[in-house]
Amino acid sequence: MDLGLKGKTVLITAGSKGIGQSIAEAFAEEGCNVAICSRSKENLEATSADIKKKYNVEPFWCICDLNNGKDIENTYNLVKKQFGKIDILVNNCGGPAPGMFSELSEQDWQSAFEQILLSIIRFCNLAIPDMIIKEWGRIINITSVSVKQPIENLMLSNSLRSGVIGFAKSLSNEVAKYNITVNNIAPGYTLTNRLYELAVLRSKNENQSHEEYLAEMAKHIPMNRLGRPEEIAAAVVFLSSCRAGYITGNTIQVDGGWVKGLY
Ligand code: NAD
Repeated sequence: MDLGLKGKTVLITAGSKGIGQSIAEAFAEEGCNVAICSRSKENLEATSADIKKKYNVEPFWCICDLNNGKDIENTYNLVKKQFGKIDILVNNCGGPAPGMFSELSEQDWQSAFEQILLSIIRFCNLAIPDMIIKEWGRIINITSVSVKQPIENLMLSNSLRSGVIGFAKSLSNEVAKYNITVNNIAPGYTLTNRLYELAVLRSKNENQSHEEYLAEMAKHIPMNRLGRPEEIAAAVVFLSSCRAGYITGNTIQVDGGWVKGLY
């Protein structure tokens, strides 16, 4: 299937590691102009070099703290200067701090709000006017299965990611007439380095090996295994494609069946 993505420009935020990196690789494979941003120069340089080696496409990168409005504006302008346009915006971010309501400070809420929801609003504020002029655009937000089934001890994610879903649905209705689609991907448990490191850390406290800890996690998933970052990336690429032009305002789980509800 020709996805019609060759030559499109895509910006992936928090794109230097994990799911973001896999998404960048998948777009490079499709022949897109790829731009990534995150906070770490070392990670950005390493990921960019890695993608160039694998796909012969050198991603443009710049440093951006998603909690910082000036960084976001600077990133958007630099990518636009580099490629002349941004067709596809993939809003990924770092995971917010875990914790129950009673453990979280107002600062925790403020920081999670800025990174999870406000960064998306800020990037959309910059991208939408340009997409309207071109009458074409794709916006994909990476959220979590917590928007369908809240996860214990993740109060910030459970609360603020649902705000992303509400924002995306409202925005999708507003911009559909310009051929701009807005959708969300909700990953389930996906084996990125971060999850692996978390398993190594937590398994020590629970007196088991990290392999046992990860296998235990997989038992709650009908597919009986964790997701792979490239499986999230495949869904993002499809939603960004010309073939997905009539899909908008949706939230699609890529979770091996983890969410037990109907909607
Ligand atoms: P990861 O930790 O491997 O990667 C996160 C990326 O975000 C990194 O590139 C990091 O540098 C960047 N980042 C963090 N804070 C930032 C900031 N303030 N500004 C700019 N960049 C920042 O995480 P991942 O496993 O790839 O997950 C990506 C997203 O998907 C996260 O929001 C995570 O909560 C969510 N998610 C992950 C899973 C999973 O199982 N891996 C499941 C559901 C949801």
